[in-house]
Amino acid sequence: MSELPKSQSLANRYRPQTFDEMIWQQHIIWILKAKMQSDSSSLQNYLLCGPRGTWKTTSARILAKAINCLDPHDWNPCNKCANCELINSWKTTDYVEIDAASNTWVENVREVIINQAWYQPISLKKKIYVIDEVHMLSWAAFNALLKTIEEPNWNVCFILATTELQKVPQTIISRVQIFNFKKIPQWEMVSHLANICKNEWFEYENEALELIATISEGCVRDAIKYLDQVSVLWKISSNNVSQFLWISTDATIKEFFDIVQSWDIDQIFEQIDKLSQWTDLQQFAKQCIGYIDSHIMDNTDFYLEISEAFSEILRQVRFYPYPAVLYKLSFNKYLEWNGVIAEPTVKKVEKKVDIKKESKEEKEDIKEIDNTEQTEENIKESNNVESIDWNLWDKIIQHISSTTTRQVLKDHMAIDKVTDSEIIIIHDNSMVAKTMFEKERKEIEDIIEKELWKKFIISIEWISKEEYFQRLMWKMM
Ligand SMILES: [Zn+2]
Repeated sequence: MSELPKSQSLANRYRPQTFDEMIWQQHIIWILKAKMQSDSSSLQNYLLCGPRGTWKTTSARILAKAINCLDPHDWNPCNKCANCELINSWKTTDYVEIDAASNTWVENVREVIINQAWYQPISLKKKIYVIDEVHMLSWAAFNALLKTIEEPNWNVCFILATTELQKVPQTIISRVQIFNFKKIPQWEMVSHLANICKNEWFEYENEALELIATISEGCVRDAIKYLDQVSVLWKISSNNVSQFLWISTDATIKEFFDIVQSWDIDQIFEQIDKLSQWTDLQQFAKQCIGYIDSHIMDNTDFYLEISEAFSEILRQVRFYPYPAVLYKLSFNKYLEWNGVIAEPTVKKVEKKVDIKKESKEEKEDIKEIDNTEQTEENIKESNNVESIDWNLWDKIIQHISSTTTRQVLKDHMAIDKVTDSEIIIIHDNSMVAKTMFEKERKEIEDIIEKELWKKFIISIEWISKEEYFQRLMWKMM
């Protein structure tokens, strides 16, 4: 399937080049092929809609090639003839891909559509305009598009793609042929990933691929991206995948639900702390809701109640820098509501915080006394400590290209102090984060130098997970 070099990402190497390489969209492919077979001159304009990552743009490119191919095989593009080559290598002005979501196109999309679409194609049979995320076009651009597709013009074909069909004007919808792309179901995704693994000689467990399929939520692009990330491990096992991608197995979710049903708040909090050390808690909430959905008949009352707690968590989790706190507040509320605990809201979370706050104040008192005897330079240094930008770490790691690394470093590390010459980072001792940080250390040092305009010594303080969490709680005060 893939002839691209191994250095290319899996997503690039396994992007379909023909209709027959696509998975799960046969309902569309049959119609497209039938149309091409019956009368290729009637081919006009298309709107491909459906969830993100379901290969809409990829299909648009295949369709563009199939329409122009000089030697199609069963209506698939050959990818070898002059026309296919021109499109694959972007060497023709007759094939244009426009991303309506990108600002750079906002100004000239109208002009491209109005002025250029009418000219005869130079090298291809038909000019093809692919407009991705077409619902983002301006009103003026929609009007220009409408004018162009209203008039029959056999030289040009528009292939529009969107994730939000309801935002595309009815006037456009009524003039194009619509194709609905579907999310890839779990079993099909697993079998697709298994094929890639076999092809690449990856050692894998089926359960691991099921986990990847679950978090990809039917988006094949994401699934292949995750597979690419875990392919660096010696074996793609469910354990490795769950640790590397911060996702939970069904067993972990069940264990958490069992603990919740014990009604013991200490145990629940302990489990939340444990989970927060190696799980993406936003993803965990999503997975829990998925788990409830497939097990609801086992214990309907419990699952209905608990799903409310998770819906609440999901609504807010994006805005919480420390999701474990949100979990604790929600489960505290849940137990309180069930009459399991009597003390009004957040007693344990707040108590914990109060203790830390006191000890933090004590610490600061001591520091103040010490400071009186310190040199001027040290005082300057401690002043700098006071002015830490708490978002600095986020700002630094956002420049790291890998999403997984970014997430791991965000969840396991935080800046504790910044002095004139040194940045002290606390780290919760997670092995995965340790390895990732050491791998990225040079890049992070470079980013810091760029962001702060000078070189800093980066010191890491490895502390226990519990202490790490407590320090973050102080910072929130
Ligand atoms: Zn061809």
